[in-house]
Amino acid sequence: MTHTPQSSDQGHPTTTNDDATPTTDVVVIGGGAAGLTAAQVLGRARRSVTVIDGHAQRNAPAQHMHGYLARDGFPPADLIAVGREEAARYGVQLIDGQVSTLQWRGAAPGFALRLTDGRELTTRAVLVATGLRDELLALPGLEERWGVDVLHCPFCHAYELRDRPLAVLGGGTNRELSVHQALLMPQWSDDVTFFPNGIDLTEVERTRIERRGVYIVDEPVRGIVVADDRLRAVELESGQLVPRDAVFVAPRFLPNHALLLQIGCDVASSGLIATTGAGETSVPGVWAAGNVIDPRAQVITAAGQGSAAAIAINGYLLAQDVEDTLASEPHPAPFSAEMERAVARRLFDSRRAEPGLSLHC
Ligand SMILES: Cc1cc2nc3c(=O)[nH]c(=O)nc-3n(C[C@H](O)[C@H](O)[C@H](O)COP(=O)(O)OP(=O)(O)OC[C@H]3O[C@@H](n4cnc5c(N)ncnc54)[C@H](O)[C@@H]3O)c2cc1C
Repeated sequence: MTHTPQSSDQGHPTTTNDDATPTTDVVVIGGGAAGLTAAQVLGRARRSVTVIDGHAQRNAPAQHMHGYLARDGFPPADLIAVGREEAARYGVQLIDGQVSTLQWRGAAPGFALRLTDGRELTTRAVLVATGLRDELLALPGLEERWGVDVLHCPFCHAYELRDRPLAVLGGGTNRELSVHQALLMPQWSDDVTFFPNGIDLTEVERTRIERRGVYIVDEPVRGIVVADDRLRAVELESGQLVPRDAVFVAPRFLPNHALLLQIGCDVASSGLIATTGAGETSVPGVWAAGNVIDPRAQVITAAGQGSAAAIAINGYLLAQDVEDTLASEPHPAPFSAEMERAVARRLFDSRRAEPGLSLHC
């Protein structure tokens, strides 16, 4: 699956190759949990690292983050602030901005990047950790309450809503997840209402959901009702209100993988960028980690993927370093005639200096 990256002659803007362009061992695109973890690991490995981040971490709308060992309930913004501080401690350079172009230069150091503000960098290796975008059902109120009381991940937020009146709202493109949520939510509350909102349930699905104690309301949904900064109800097309404290929805997960496509990475049958276990893409020198390749990744999972990718990237750079050293300091082959002559000369010289020394040791 490995192949040569697409070069600048395939319609992408060309990049200046002049020496003034800053260059690093690794550029990390995206400074969320995945990118910052990778940056810290590589910084501690004494690699030169630049992180370029657009500051739109996916969980930024949420007040608290759960499921991250030793940081349970931590504000997402604080995790990023601490992560940036830690990375900077190891010499990682942090740039605020948006990468628009990623190209293979066809020569060392390897890759050229351009930001939307026109800045350019070159680098030996790239980690793309750009996350994903959650596309919500277009219903009044959902966007505004996203991450507050309109949520998608019960493992992140349902414990705090346990035993309260909850809704599962279907109707988007992610039918499978909506049905799954309807089956799942009774783990946290015995007062769950499912609004299929256009999903045509099979008899088997309906029976299974009802047997889980979930009440199904088939009438289409008009929107949600919010008062005093709290979600109060789900409003049906008829105007009837169904009082609820929170709504779980199934967004469409859209990976931010345009740069990976631009450089020619293979795409798997799932529609996601194809990677090996440590986030290696089909383009040598290009890695990916976190939600951009794995929509299911929690913060701790994304961080773990960033760490694994960082160690793999270091291995890739090390192999290059070893080759470069060998190429720059030519040594005679170990059993060449030239080497034999050099060893013999040294032995005879030392024997002359110490007459008692035997040649056979
Ligand atoms: C509302 C909500 C609440 C959540 N709560 C939790 C929770 O409590 N616990 C949990 O474990 N998970 C939670 N998650 C999931 C969590 O957000 C993800 O697991 C996590 O953000 C993935 O990290 P990441 O580094 O892959 O991507 P992100 O954190 O999304 O970071 C990607 C970064 O890349 C940047 N970027 C994108 N494109 C570019 C570009 N071209 N150039 C430069 N920068 C770019 C973005 O600006 C962003 O800063 C929640 C998700 C949502 C939507």
